Amino acid sequence: MTTNGKWETVIGLEVHVQMSTASKLFCACPASFGAAPNRHTCPVCLGMPGVLPVLNERALEYAVRAALATGCTINRKSRWARKNYFYPDLPKAYQISQYDEPYAENGEISIEIEGSEEPRRIRLERIHMEEDAGKNIHDARAGSSHVDLNRAGVPLLEVVSRPDLRSPAEAGAYLRKLRAIVRYLDICDGNMNEGSMRCDANVSIRLAGSEEYGTRTETKNMNSFRAVERAIAHEAERQTGLLEDGERIVQETRLWDAARGLTRSMRSKEEAHDYRYFPDPDLLPLVITEELVERVRATMPELPDQRRERFTADYRLPAYDAGVLTSSKELAGYYEAAVGAHGNAKAISNWVMGDVMRVANETAGEGEPDYAEIPVSPENLASLVRLIDEGTISGKIAKQVFEQMADGDEDPAHIVEREGLVQESDEGKLGEVIDRVLTDNPGQVEQFRAGKTKVLGYLVGQVMKETGGKANPGVVNRILSEKLGP
Ligand code: ADP
Ligand code: MG
Ligand code: ZN
Repeated sequence: MTTNGKWETVIGLEVHVQMSTASKLFCACPASFGAAPNRHTCPVCLGMPGVLPVLNERALEYAVRAALATGCTINRKSRWARKNYFYPDLPKAYQISQYDEPYAENGEISIEIEGSEEPRRIRLERIHMEEDAGKNIHDARAGSSHVDLNRAGVPLLEVVSRPDLRSPAEAGAYLRKLRAIVRYLDICDGNMNEGSMRCDANVSIRLAGSEEYGTRTETKNMNSFRAVERAIAHEAERQTGLLEDGERIVQETRLWDAARGLTRSMRSKEEAHDYRYFPDPDLLPLVITEELVERVRATMPELPDQRRERFTADYRLPAYDAGVLTSSKELAGYYEAAVGAHGNAKAISNWVMGDVMRVANETAGEGEPDYAEIPVSPENLASLVRLIDEGTISGKIAKQVFEQMADGDEDPAHIVEREGLVQESDEGKLGEVIDRVLTDNPGQVEQFRAGKTKVLGYLVGQVMKETGGKANPGVVNRILSEKLGP
């Protein structure tokens, strides 16, 4: 985003992706969300003395999947590091992470920006693995604080972009693409409001055209894509205001306050040396063998970008449609199931992008829609489009039928039959209705004959009204033109 064309916003995102393994990164405790506090704990994740961490091989496999999907270089040998800090939710007083030797580096994620043909390639600096901390819960009313260590030790990936993003919208597109990728890979549920994806946004401002980066702040505490975009927009505006007043930006960590719609200072930015990183002596260097990489590569699923290209090639869809439909694996699967049942690819795309996504979004409420739970089956959607294509119902009636399908997932043919919604194409019957409409609207008829052909739409509308929307619009248009013609 540029403000007055004078300033340019520079954004780099650090995203924590919680891997959906059954167990934690270094112990056998369940990694799942939602259990009663401190049920998922053991001496290892409680940080008892004398215990040793053992790496979860499934987590490593997931990490390799993420690296391959984003074109990272996978380091054959990397290292675990202790990141030291004291906080009640961190029983060992250090977090096992990776520091100067991450397992993956130099990847890339492409994003599609509305209105531009070419995708933007956002470079990744690195991906590293680390364990999550627990959770402090402050009960203001009781005046007490509690610690839940169920999350302590849950495996995370930290995906760090280079400062290549230039607007809140680009940051949102990047996050959505990353979410799509990890969901296609089946390594994370992508649920932002449950904390399965957490994003820190580094934001700075510079004069447009400048090569150097400005001083950045890091904003935390956003729990939706929308919140990330709003926080970045606000932070860019705040920094621009300061610079225009001749002030300086302080490098610091800030918190997004969603209720007030602003960021506020949390603490001065900690430096790496504050964490006293050092190699974890309990763990051997992490070795990722060629065999492991090849085994994972052989099981890689089709990814969003590949699927989008296949959709434009196989179904002849516009790039825009293909991008929307493949933004979620479930939605893409739904689309393909519907097209498999009735091959009108573009019509089905329109329905999916329109009404199907709308009802799925309504069901999702505040959160990201879960296209695994679309209330209309793809087979029934296909039948609906077939009814239109065969001329049994009009497009207008189809909308009405769809609403009924959305609460009950009934076969549309049954609905049409039961409610008597079959399209009227009989020329004799329609001719009678049209004659009546013409008699009732002499003014419009006169206008049409005087050259105002636009009133035809009005007259068609009247016929539709008379027939409860059931008239075949093609036949109505033809008869009307004949009757009004010279
Ligand atoms: P740290 O490890 O201290 O958080 P890094 O140099 O690893 O710092 O950068 C962290 C994130 O900050 C990266 O996503 C990077 O792209 C981003 N970043 C670095 N410099 C800037 C800047 N001037 N403006 C915006 N983002 C930046
Ligand atoms: Mg950082
Ligand atoms: Zn444990």
